[in-house]
Amino acid sequence: STALLNMMKDTLTLTFLICLMFYQNWRLAIFAILMIPCAAIISRSLGKRMGKAAREAQEHSGNLARFLSEILKASKVIKIYQKENFEYGRAKKFIYGLIEKLKKMTLIQIRATPIMEILTGFIIGGFIYYSGYLVMEGKIGINNFFSFLAAMMLAYQPVRSLATLNITFSQGFSGAYRILPLIDQEKKIYENDNLKNIIVDKANIEFKNINFSYFEENKDQVLHKINFKINGGQTVALVGHSGAGKSTIMNLIPRFYDPTSGDILIDDQSIYNSKLSSLRKNISLVSQEITLFDDTVRSNIAYAAPDSSEEQIIEASEFSKANEFIQKLPEKYDTIIGENGVRLSGGEKQRISIARAILKNAPIILLDEATSSLDVDTEHKIQQAITYLTKNKTTIIIAHRLSTIFGADKIFVVNQGKIVDEGTHLELLKNSLIYQNFYNKQLKHN
Ligand code: ADP
Repeated sequence: STALLNMMKDTLTLTFLICLMFYQNWRLAIFAILMIPCAAIISRSLGKRMGKAAREAQEHSGNLARFLSEILKASKVIKIYQKENFEYGRAKKFIYGLIEKLKKMTLIQIRATPIMEILTGFIIGGFIYYSGYLVMEGKIGINNFFSFLAAMMLAYQPVRSLATLNITFSQGFSGAYRILPLIDQEKKIYENDNLKNIIVDKANIEFKNINFSYFEENKDQVLHKINFKINGGQTVALVGHSGAGKSTIMNLIPRFYDPTSGDILIDDQSIYNSKLSSLRKNISLVSQEITLFDDTVRSNIAYAAPDSSEEQIIEASEFSKANEFIQKLPEKYDTIIGENGVRLSGGEKQRISIARAILKNAPIILLDEATSSLDVDTEHKIQQAITYLTKNKTTIIIAHRLSTIFGADKIFVVNQGKIVDEGTHLELLKNSLIYQNFYNKQLKHN
C-alpha cells in the first residue's frame, strides 16, 4: 500500500513537472526525458536481484523460525541425549545462512543509492553542458532556463522514488509468492452452500460402506467397507492393535477427513449433507494429546462455551474432579497454566480437558483414552469424570483400559482397517480369536 500510494503521488508530480519542462523548452525537455529509460534499466536489474535476495532471506528466516520452535519444544530430549553442541551447530548454520542473505540484501540496497546518484550527476552535467550551448546560441532565455532547471530539480525526487519503487514491490512480491500458495490451497473438506443444520436428538450413528485412504490416489486404503450402527446413548469401545485404524474411524465423524466412498448418518441424516458447523457443535472430543492454552484455568475450561457463567464452569469442574486441585492453585480459576499446561500434572490436564467437554455438553463424545497410566487415585477420579461426561451420550472410545471395556455397551474389534468382530467382552472372549489374542497380550496387563 505504501508503494501504491507513493506511485500515485510521484507519477502526478512528475507529469506536471514534465509538462512545465516542455512548456519552457522542448529541446531541453526531450534531452532530460531521454535519460529516464537509462535509469529505468538499471533500476529493473536492481529490482530483480533484490527480489531474489529478499525471497531467499524470507525462506531462511522461515526455516530458522521452524528450527527454533522445534528445538525449544525438544529441550528435554536435547539435554538428556546431550546434543547441545549438535544443535548449536545446526542453529549456527541457520542463523549464518540468514545473516548472509540479509547482508546480500543490504548490499544491493546500499549499492542502489550511489548508482542512482551517479547517474543523476551525469544527467545534470550533460544537461548543463547542453543548456549552456543553447543559451549561448540564444535559443533559450536565461529566465526560461532557470525555470526549467527548477522543474528538473524538483522532478529528481519523484523519479528516484519511482525508480526504487521496483525494489519495494519486489520485496512485497517475494513475500506474496511464499504466502499465496498457502492461502490458495483448496480445502479438502467441501461444504456445499445451502446445507441444512443437522438435528441431533437420539444421536444414533451409522457408518455405511465407508472406505478411506489418506492419499488422494486411493492407494494405501486404511479403512475397508466399515459398516456399523450405534444406538443413541450407547458407549462403544474400539479396540485393536496400533495402526489398525481406530483413530481414523473417529476422525471421520467430525469430518476432519472425508471418506473416499460411503456415508455416515447421524439420526438418519447424512453428515455430508449437513452444515459442518452444526455437526461439530454436537461433538466433543477428548483426545490423548490434550491441548491447553497459555491462559487462565477458567478460559481453558470455557474454551468451547465462552458465555458460560461462573457457576457452570465450577459445576463442570466439580463433575470432572478438577475443582479440588484448582482450589489449591495460587489464583484458583485465574491461574495461568503455562504453555500447553506445563504447570499442571498429566492427570490435572486430563481433568481440565474433561471439564471443557462437560461444559460443551454435546450429545456425541469421542474419547481417545490415555495410554499412560496414572496413580490409582487419579485414575479413579478420571474414570468418574468420564462416567459423568458420557452418561446418556453416544460415546465412542478408543479403549486401552479393561475397566472401560467392561463398561462399554459394545466393543468393536478393529483389525487392518476392518471391523472384524463385535460384541461384549464376554461374547468376544468366546467367539473372537483376534480379541482373545489382543486381550491376552495387551489388556490383561493393564
Ligand atoms: P490406530 O488409531 O488404530 O492406532 P490409525 O487410525 O491412527 O490407527 O492409523 C491407521 C493407519 O493409517 C496406519 O497405517 C497409519 O500409519 C495411517 N495413518 C494415520 N494417520 C495418517 C495420516 N495423517 N496420513 C497418512 N497415514 C496415516
